[in-house]
Amino acid sequence: MGLLQRMNPFGQRSGKLQTQPALGAAANLLEAIEGMAAMRGIVLPPCDPYPDQQVVYERYLKSVGLDHSQVDRILNMGRIPEEKRAAAHGMLLAAVLNSGSISNGELAAILTVARTIFSEQRATSLLRTISAPIYEKARKVPGRLSGPLAMGVFPFRWFNGQSSAFEGTSMCLAATGSFDLIEIFSTLFAARQKDPGYAVEKMREALATYVRTNEVESPKYGLGEGLVDFGNAGGIHTLLTTAGEQFLISHEFGHVALGHTVSSPRGAMPTRAVGLLSQTPNDVQVIRPEQLDEYCADVWALQAMLALAEEPEYEEKIPIFCGGAAVFLGLAVLVEAASRAARIDTKDSHPPASNRLYLIELAFELFGHHENAFVARRVREFVDEVGAEYPGFEMPPMLSRPLNQIAAQVFEKLNLDLSHAPYITDFR
Ligand SMILES: [Zn+2]
Repeated sequence: MGLLQRMNPFGQRSGKLQTQPALGAAANLLEAIEGMAAMRGIVLPPCDPYPDQQVVYERYLKSVGLDHSQVDRILNMGRIPEEKRAAAHGMLLAAVLNSGSISNGELAAILTVARTIFSEQRATSLLRTISAPIYEKARKVPGRLSGPLAMGVFPFRWFNGQSSAFEGTSMCLAATGSFDLIEIFSTLFAARQKDPGYAVEKMREALATYVRTNEVESPKYGLGEGLVDFGNAGGIHTLLTTAGEQFLISHEFGHVALGHTVSSPRGAMPTRAVGLLSQTPNDVQVIRPEQLDEYCADVWALQAMLALAEEPEYEEKIPIFCGGAAVFLGLAVLVEAASRAARIDTKDSHPPASNRLYLIELAFELFGHHENAFVARRVREFVDEVGAEYPGFEMPPMLSRPLNQIAAQVFEKLNLDLSHAPYITDFR
């Protein structure tokens, strides 16, 4: 397996290959990449679809005593052994030298990867790139997300997202740690097919580290090696990672679209990380929505992703979108269970994650996607396997009257028609 193939050659993400070229050399190389693309008439997609959002995002970070340069690069240093970096560069060079004999499509993919490696591209541009289709689709519905909005990565290694209002702009932020934990989960979910024991063990290690240190560790180099086909850009590990992140940010869009960023009470960011707090001299105020609002944001997020699937190019993504929701909420279930097992109070304002997973599973049914929820069901199996060893661990119930009552309120609040959902209305 070549290292170059371990990155998604279609530019969405990678996390597995790092390099730190000298700045001057990198600038020359970036120019050469653009030049080669231009010569072949290839238009490389912009690194950041919303450069305008960057300005207010940087001001927001500054207002809470942070700097955007603290946000990880898409390909951050240190994960890959030194000797393997040279091999990767060699492969890239070979591809460029042979560029005369490869198709425009292949060359575009290689150049996109090369640009990602040698540029300062940070996770924020990745977040905006993967969120753009959902955001654009949701914006077309009147009244939804019509105001100014900025997405960005919050440079902390936590597993969460948050939204707030800043200078009249809705900020939708995802913490860096979320990307890594979702990637670890999705990689191990794919590895599980060949080695379930390995997948469970490594997932529990990642969770244990997170609850112990309150920081998600970057996926270790070699995670899933030999078990996951990293060469397959359309592999389940890549698709689910992206969909999990899309669900996370869509949940924050949901808070904005439903008016929670304006109406909700504010409070300090829930954190128990004393060390991290010293990095934020100013208090970071975030919204602390009501529990019902959290469920609404979840269902809104799923609905927004499914709406995107109305577009022909995303039609086949429905199982992956449902899977992404299950990855995010399944991880939330596991983080809670691991925290409880370690007797740590997460002081989270969200409702219990297993309730959120229950409601989202009901939403799969309500939206008519029982058949399409097969990836989500596999994700649930993995969550169950990983969680099984925590004392008192419980997956969401199959059927629950109290939860159906909450679900009915949530769906009605979102103006969803329950007349064809007797499994909700008759059982509450
Ligand atoms: Zn929320």
